[in-house]
Amino acid sequence: MHSLFRAACFCLVLATQPLFPGRADAQEKWPPIAGAAEQNLARVAKHPPVAKALEGIKADSVRMFEEQVRLNEIPAPPFREQTRAEYYLKKLREAGLRDARIDTEGNVIGVRRGTGRGPRVVISAHLDTVFPEGTDVKVREKAGRFYAPGISDDAAGLASLLTMVEHLTKSGLRTVGDIIVVGTVGEEELGDLRGVKALFRDDKDIDGFISLDGVGFGRIVNHATGSHRFSVEFKGPGGHSFAAFGLPSAIHAMGRAIAKIGELKPPADPKTTFTVGTVRGGTSVNAIAGDATMAIDIRSNSQEELLKFEEKVVAAIREAVEEENRRWGSKAISADIKLIGDRPAGLTPIDSPIVHTARAALRTVGADTRAITAASTDSNLPMSLGIPAITLSSAGQGGGSHSLGEWYTPTNNWLGPQLALLVSLGLAGVEGLTEPLLEKRTKK
Ligand SMILES: [Zn+2]
Repeated sequence: MHSLFRAACFCLVLATQPLFPGRADAQEKWPPIAGAAEQNLARVAKHPPVAKALEGIKADSVRMFEEQVRLNEIPAPPFREQTRAEYYLKKLREAGLRDARIDTEGNVIGVRRGTGRGPRVVISAHLDTVFPEGTDVKVREKAGRFYAPGISDDAAGLASLLTMVEHLTKSGLRTVGDIIVVGTVGEEELGDLRGVKALFRDDKDIDGFISLDGVGFGRIVNHATGSHRFSVEFKGPGGHSFAAFGLPSAIHAMGRAIAKIGELKPPADPKTTFTVGTVRGGTSVNAIAGDATMAIDIRSNSQEELLKFEEKVVAAIREAVEEENRRWGSKAISADIKLIGDRPAGLTPIDSPIVHTARAALRTVGADTRAITAASTDSNLPMSLGIPAITLSSAGQGGGSHSLGEWYTPTNNWLGPQLALLVSLGLAGVEGLTEPLLEKRTKK
């Protein structure tokens, strides 16, 4: 079914679930944090060079926020991330990743090599924003809040990641595994995860993946909401509404299809959703429509349900075309279905070492795991490949994500890079001190 649709892609926004369900009993619903992860991170955090780096990060919080503002004020619309990418490359090189480069897709990649005996873990944030070219991205303060499109999502992640790299370099620590630092392109909307897709296409030897995306400290995304989006174009002969009466109509066919799709019932669990988001077509009130186009968004927390539901939608469209043709004794109506967005669904089990590591790291910096949840982020892709992946949020407060009213306040912002540092060191292992918590995947 799916192979029928091969076309250019676009993408959906960060599918936000409530950031903090606010359930006091949430911790009890989750398995207890693995002792191995807690002990490992306690040792790492007490190790003098790490303790110094954690303090250094905290002392650096003002400079870090200034950098976040600078990054944000370099526009990075979908497919136009290059200027910001070049700046980020320069900053990563200055921060110690001298061999950092921009790959063929536009991702900024810098590798901090370990001993060569350990896993290879990616830690990333996305360079792109949802905002089109020409959007005013200047940061303005009002009543203690800093307003600018993109300031939380994901200038906060980029600043956390850069700050972590700076202090990791200063610490002189050697890790067992490699830490691969990536600023990805194409996370949002039309980008359709093109950056992270290229990353995993070009490097088959990645053992784990972390994305720092948005604000809402304490949130762990371990479940990838998948989505498929289609553009469906109905075509017919068109004609005069009176003189050519008797010809089938593209709009009538589309109406039949929408009525059928509207009656479909997706499962509540795993949550699966659909909507016909836009329609357009026809030329005049007194013309039988020769064309009509609709866009459909289908999402699910399960790839299997996503594909099952997609089959039903496609069947509904085919039936609608047949009915419209039959009604007028014609074969003139057709429907062309194009996949325009493809984000695979996936899951990193709640009991996997990468989730335990993140929870233990949150506890180590004095924070709680506030939610373990589903969303659509760069982690979708590695999760769909069975590679351990999670998305974490940066610290500080924020809101209005993906809107022109997006804002951020840097309260306790240093917790973001502290978390990133501890998770990276825990997963990769510190030479002579700890074993990596992330397993090396056996090579195919
Ligand atoms: Zn984001």
